[in-house]
Formats: sequence, structure tokens, C-alpha cells
Amino acid sequence: LLGDDGSPRPTIFAEMSALAAATGAINLGQGFPDEDGPAEVLEAAREAIAAGINQYPPGLGMPVLREAIAHHQRRFYGLEVDPDTEVLVTAGATEALAATLLAFVDDGDEVVTLEPVYDSYAAIIALAGGRHVPVPLAAPDFRPDPDALRAAVGDRTRVILLNSPHNPTGAVLDPALLDLAIELAHRHDAIVVTDEVYEHLVFDGVRHVPAATRPGAHGRVVSISSAGKTFSTTGWKIGWVTAARELRDAVLAVKQFLSYVNGAPFQPAIALGLGLPDAFFTGAAAALQAKRDLLSDGLRAAGFAVSRPSGSYFVIADAAPLGVEDAAAFCRELPERAGVVGIPLTAFVHPDRRAPFRSHVRFAFCKRTEVLEEAAARLAGVA
Ligand code: PMP
Ligand code: GLN
Repeated sequence: LLGDDGSPRPTIFAEMSALAAATGAINLGQGFPDEDGPAEVLEAAREAIAAGINQYPPGLGMPVLREAIAHHQRRFYGLEVDPDTEVLVTAGATEALAATLLAFVDDGDEVVTLEPVYDSYAAIIALAGGRHVPVPLAAPDFRPDPDALRAAVGDRTRVILLNSPHNPTGAVLDPALLDLAIELAHRHDAIVVTDEVYEHLVFDGVRHVPAATRPGAHGRVVSISSAGKTFSTTGWKIGWVTAARELRDAVLAVKQFLSYVNGAPFQPAIALGLGLPDAFFTGAAAALQAKRDLLSDGLRAAGFAVSRPSGSYFVIADAAPLGVEDAAAFCRELPERAGVVGIPLTAFVHPDRRAPFRSHVRFAFCKRTEVLEEAAARLAGVA
């Protein structure tokens, strides 16, 4: 967590956003949208502030939001979730992940993840004193091998931490893999924790299947999501956990001493958002799919080998056809060479295991069409 000089090491996202700001390059590094989300959601937050919803909300989250989360789970996934006993509102998915891992992981317990892995997982596992056991994902489709998952899970495993749609690769997990994770959790008395923050951002007719809908999930699965990506409100930090009561309560026991509560006026606004008509959710995914295609075509035309993400904000581009052997060095030069910022995939991989990802770059396509067109035009000159 600390750099060589003892100061906090900035996250790769902060570092690359700073590079973009310093060079004036187009920032396709950190994944955040450059447009506001639905106007009625923004207006609902303004109204909540005007109506005086500015003090501590209840520890579990405001009832209106917990009910909206339960309703959302029923509407999209047919899941029955009790808003009083099985839902907890958190300061983004980040706090949900931290509280969950701190609740369940003791010194030396193993946490299995899919690697490349979202950067905060490794840090939180370390804070909890856990041991990180990665299941490797391989280009170009980044799907986990069931045998590798079987090999990674054992009696010391406490948590199988899955992320689908997956950051950084955009892979979406098959139901069979979710079933295997749940079966292994039962066999080894572990739990499955799923990070589903990109649940509505899936493409090409692919469906997001929550692990909580699979056989044997009840009492074994902690589901985590967030409003940030769905409503383009990444700065509001409204996330949530849904899980059987005893699991939810264990997470609450930690959350109450991390942030206690969060985001009072944003909670009713997100409740409203979760109830928007289907057209909002399908429209957002379709618009993002068009952006994926626009940036992917640009990267391909520039000479990269490009993966086809089924979800998320991100596409993985292999720069090996451009003669690149070190994507980290390439990404440091890219603002000068092309006026674009991307993140080397190795930033999501432990230093000992980086070799297979040496030439890959993660680019975010959650940007305005004209920004992506400009980025594609600039990248055309990179070869
Ligand atoms: N998990 C994943 C996979 C993410 O990509 C992100 C944010 N980009 C988070 C968690 C954090 O979500 P939040 O901003 O709601 O804390
Ligand atoms: N999740 C975002 C990404 O992957 C960044 C969030 C952050 O900066 N922590 O780009």
C-alpha cells in the first residue's frame, strides 16, 4: 500500500488520470463516464437536499432505497430479498467489498480471485490479513478454466471473490462457472462474494446472471453492486450488499465502524433510478455497446489486436502487433505519441505473474462519441 518512500502509493487510476491532466491527453484510463446520468435521478438528489435529507440516514440505508434494491432484484432476476434483513447500503461497492472481506477473512485465510483483478481486491485482502490465491484468466476471451478454479479452492479458502462483468477484461461468467464456485464453497465451507457493479452494462444479447440466482446460493453468496456505473454517478458512492441475514449482519458489523452511513440525499435519488423503465437500462447498454464498437474499430485500424468484451466499460487491446513488448512503458509514452491515456493490463496482475499480459492495454470506452472518435483518430498515427 505504501511506496518506497513510505508515502501512500497512488492507485493506477489516479496516476493515469494525473498523467492525462498533465499532458492534455484523452483519458481512456480511469473508468468513469464523461456525461451525466438520467436527469430525473440528478433532480431527485437536488430535491432531497432541498427537502432537508442531509443528516445521518439509518445504519442499514434508507428504507426507500432498500425497498428499491429488493424490488430491482425481483424485477431483473426473480430474486426475493427482504429489504429489512437482507440488504445493506454501503459507500460504493468499494466499501461493500472492504466490509465483506474484513468481516469474513482472518489472518492466513485464502481469498480466491480471477486475475487480472480489480486493484482494490488485492489491497483489501492484504488489509484483512488474507492470502490472495489467483485463478489466471488468459487472452483473448479471459474466461476462467473450471479446473483452475477447482485447483485454487481448498480447505483454507474462506472467500471465492468473483467479478462479472469483469474489470479489467469485460468477460462475463457463465452460469456453469457460478454453479461450480457455489459447489466448491459448500464443499470447503467458504462463501462466494460477487462484484456485479457492471450488471446492466452487457452487450450482444449476453445476459448477466447473478450467482444468487443459482442452486445452493442461499446463505453462501454475498452479492455486491453499485449505482455508480448504472446511473453514471461514480462520485456519489452509493453501493449495496444483498445476502442472507446472517451474512448481511456480519458485513453490517464492519460497515458501521468504517463509514457508519453514507450519502443521505443520494439514496432516494438512486431509489428512483432503480425504478426507471426498462428502456433506460436497455438504452444505456445499447449506447455503451456502440461506443465499445467505435473504440474497438479504431484500435483495430491502428494495428492493435482487440478483445471483444461482453460487458463493462473496458476493452483489452494487445499492442504486440505494433511491436510493443512492454505495455507499461508504451502507456507512459502514449500521451506524447498519440495524446491518449490507457492503463497497462499488468497493473491488474501481481508482478510475478505479468509475463502473459506484457503487451496488453486496457482502454475505457465510457466516453462521449466525439471523444472516442477523436481518440481513434489520434491512435491511427501510433504505429
Ligand atoms: N468493483 C469493480 C469491478 C469496479 O470496476 C469498481 C469501480 N470502477 C468498483 C468495484 C467500485 O465501485 P464504487 O465506485 O461503487 O465503489
Ligand atoms: N473502477 C474504475 C476503473 O477501473 C476506477 C475507480 C478508481 O479510481 N478507484 O477504472
